[in-house]
Amino acid sequence: MPRYEFRCRSCGTTFEVNRPMAESGAPASCPDGHGDTVKLLSTVAVGGTAARGAAPTPAPAPGGGGGCCGGGCCG
Ligand SMILES: [Zn+2]
Repeated sequence: MPRYEFRCRSCGTTFEVNRPMAESGAPASCPDGHGDTVKLLSTVAVGGTAARGAAPTPAPAPGGGGGCCGGGCCG
């Protein structure tokens, strides 16, 4: 499970929270009970470097066929 680091803006402490990625954006409460916290950018210990250098999404080639009348659906 990924671990996220938060910092409390009320008392300045930092703390870590283990939570599913689906809840990564959910607010976390300071161990001292403060609710004014911010999530820090921290290393997530899952998945390795898969997100690094993501390939760009290939755009469809213009005029490359695939039109309706070229596929026989027009008659
Ligand atoms: Zn606090």
